[in-house]
Amino acid sequence: MHYYSTRNKNESVNFAKAALTGLAPDGGLFVPEVIPQYPAQVRSSLGSMNFRDIAFETIKPYVQSDIPPGALEDIVNSAYTFGSPFVSVMNWFALELFHGPTAAFKDFGARFMARAFSYLRRGEDRRLRILVATSGDTGGAVADGFFDIPGISVTVLYPKGRVTPLQERQIAGLGKNISALAVEGSFDDCQRLVKAALADEYLKKKMSLSSANSINISRLIPQAVYYAAAAGRAFAGCVDPDGEATPRLAGFPRAKEARRGLPVTLCVPSGNFGNLTAGLYAMKMGAPVTQFIAATNINKTVPDYLASGEYLERASQATISNAMDVGAPSNFERMSAHFSWDKMKQLILGVSVNDEDTRETIARVSQKSGYILDPHSAVGWKGAEKLSAENKLNERAIGILCTAHPAKFMEIVEPLAGSLPVPTSLARAMERTVSAKTIPAQVPAFIETLKTQEAAYD
Ligand SMILES: *Cc1c(COP(=O)(O)O)cnc(C)c1O
Repeated sequence: MHYYSTRNKNESVNFAKAALTGLAPDGGLFVPEVIPQYPAQVRSSLGSMNFRDIAFETIKPYVQSDIPPGALEDIVNSAYTFGSPFVSVMNWFALELFHGPTAAFKDFGARFMARAFSYLRRGEDRRLRILVATSGDTGGAVADGFFDIPGISVTVLYPKGRVTPLQERQIAGLGKNISALAVEGSFDDCQRLVKAALADEYLKKKMSLSSANSINISRLIPQAVYYAAAAGRAFAGCVDPDGEATPRLAGFPRAKEARRGLPVTLCVPSGNFGNLTAGLYAMKMGAPVTQFIAATNINKTVPDYLASGEYLERASQATISNAMDVGAPSNFERMSAHFSWDKMKQLILGVSVNDEDTRETIARVSQKSGYILDPHSAVGWKGAEKLSAENKLNERAIGILCTAHPAKFMEIVEPLAGSLPVPTSLARAMERTVSAKTIPAQVPAFIETLKTQEAAYD
């Protein structure tokens, strides 16, 4: 499989190069030259296959020139010690993507990426240092994914005082090959520092640097896996009886057998649109999903584009679903490399939800069903309700992607839905001690710190 830049179709690279460099040299995003198809027997068994087998079959065609099947099997088995339960909640389904170590869907991409990097760099003696700027969720998933991976170190930059206590422990509590920098500034400052370091000529000579944000194709491809699993189950009417750590109250009704053969709609709470792009890949591969909902908070650049055909980036506004506070979604460039506006309008229903409705939804759904949504998943739920009220979802199986565990946003959820169980991975993370170095939001200070970190390994 070859990958080319969204800005230049003529220059193609293999998977290893696309993954390890992240961004194409011309500033574009790498996209696969063709979207592969599931073999017929895989396609017809998606509803009953286990998660790791679907992961293997989904990822294989994208990586096979660089990662042979045996190595891929090892990577998948070690990355996916958890799955994505598809459970019924009232008349709809919840796809639970929060059973990984940091309790958000980003674990699926980050854990694969870390293991793929380690494999692709086998035999290299120079350490690779990954730089990540985070507003909260990405940093934790990347830190956890790369923790203890040989030959690779990670430096996470986060805005000091602007992440939750849990997120800070996930980012700055691991130690070993993970260093955390608390930047005296905003998320945008963190991003600016990372970009400056990646472009610094002196550092480029001295060390191998890379980044791990959501534009990296090696984080995106593995996210197609849970779409294939969910679509397969929805179409076959095979609902999981219970999520392994589903936050439900006692007496929650067990899953009903779902109707088979209905067309499937999956609703995606979206920010940077990496997740939805992965869903589009799964559909093109042959997973039985025919429609998506792009549900955003008030940062509604993409829903507005779907409505008007005009793409207008804007500054992001703060909301309670803050992992989706994105005014200029970076994966939009990738979506438009594959689909015209007309095609996107056919496939994707856009909708936006404000904080007030998000809160109301968390409270109401928990009261009616016992199922507790986190603020991001609640944006998805409410978005689907709005479209359903407009009769846009009739006679379909509706699955809402639940992108984070509600306990991750305890401060918001608990006053609305009452107390909820905390998964062991989060409870353990809360016990860690934060160890971060504070730096000013200035490039020279950051570069000095990187040099010191690197010297510690010599
Ligand atoms: C990152 C994140 C999102 C947004 O996903 P994108 O791929 O950026 O659209 C939604 N919910 C949660 C909990 C997240 O962490």
